[in-house]
Amino acid sequence: MFDVAIKNGLCFIDGKFLEASIGIEGNRIAYVGRDEISGDLEIDASDKFVLPGLFNAHTHLAMTLFRGYAEDMPLMDWLEKKIWRAERKLTPEDVYWGSMLGILEMLKTGTTAFSDLYIHMDEVAKAVGETGIRAVLCYGMADRGDEEKARRELEIGTEFVKNWNGAFNGRIKAIYGPHAPYTCTPEFLKAVKEKAKEMETFVHIHVSETKREVEKIERRYGKTPVRLLDEIGFLDDKTVIAHAIWLDDEELAILKNRGVSVAHCPVSNLKLSSGIARVTEMLRLGINVCLGTDGAASNNTYNLFEEIKLTSLLQKVKTGRADALKAREVLEMATKNGYRAYGLEGGELRQGRLADVIVIERRFNHSPVYDPIHSIVYASYGCEVSHVIVDGELIVEDGIVLTIDEDKVVDKVERLKEKFLED
Ligand SMILES: [Zn+2]
Repeated sequence: MFDVAIKNGLCFIDGKFLEASIGIEGNRIAYVGRDEISGDLEIDASDKFVLPGLFNAHTHLAMTLFRGYAEDMPLMDWLEKKIWRAERKLTPEDVYWGSMLGILEMLKTGTTAFSDLYIHMDEVAKAVGETGIRAVLCYGMADRGDEEKARRELEIGTEFVKNWNGAFNGRIKAIYGPHAPYTCTPEFLKAVKEKAKEMETFVHIHVSETKREVEKIERRYGKTPVRLLDEIGFLDDKTVIAHAIWLDDEELAILKNRGVSVAHCPVSNLKLSSGIARVTEMLRLGINVCLGTDGAASNNTYNLFEEIKLTSLLQKVKTGRADALKAREVLEMATKNGYRAYGLEGGELRQGRLADVIVIERRFNHSPVYDPIHSIVYASYGCEVSHVIVDGELIVEDGIVLTIDEDKVVDKVERLKEKFLED
């Protein structure tokens, strides 16, 4: 008798879909197999797909508030003229409601864990606690060459790690989030990494998102961002870099040798015309690549199914080979690679792993099903997700998020919009 039994689904196990049942005890998967099992809570998954939960490896969650706020602009104008200005108006309460909306969307589309870099992070942590989702959280820091600011930022970041790491039965992992090499000095980045090592935790940073940014760093320091970070000892297997688009061969080799993970964000990279990352080559080299949406202002959704399909399509165009990436690889990027990037034991339907599991209904758009992996990767919208379990707890049932008052969140965010319209 398990706490939860997910019975007779088509389950994504070791890269293939097989008929099986999943038994959950506490917050771990305790059984995967074909035996007849029972549980205090039973979910009949017959004729449904069962997957490990998706991991959204790069978000700025409360940017749901800026969804549709600044459109059709290049990255630097978009940041400097619109987003950074609007962000100065953000209160902790705004971040709470924006985060609730983001979590609602993620849960409804099968994301069980996310990695967020933003401000007023206590509010994000609070939203994670209330909703039952899993998260890796960091306060987004930037010193911009100001020593006093550097000291203060590191203090806030460290306070956050101390206060929240391991909270809610370990559902929150708190890490460090220096924004990028163009907003942080090498001295500051070095200090952050040293502090992260001392606290035995991870670092999440934007790197080489645009060509302009790489040129700026080269002018300023005489070397590219990855080489700069490597020289100051910033890169290791507890470092996750977002975007990583403009990299040469030697930089790819550095990432591989240091064990750095990459969070690939294809929709945002297309929308801001940043470029297409060399994902196929990264995977062939053995770099751990996972998927992220980035913030809702540059996506505009937190639906990871869009990233899954686009990752595959873009690599086919980029390499000129329709067989560049296999569906299995992309689905693993969206699941186990994300958990692995941040040192979490999840993202697989396997005994002993964290019980973060989703059930997907079989709908008209999947029909006919030859191999479920292609139905999931190329023909899913995301809204077919019927059940979501995080840390052993059922939090989405028949498409309804049990822990969030959906109407209240949407109403609240619509009202908050007003102040960002004023200049
Ligand atoms: Zn970002």
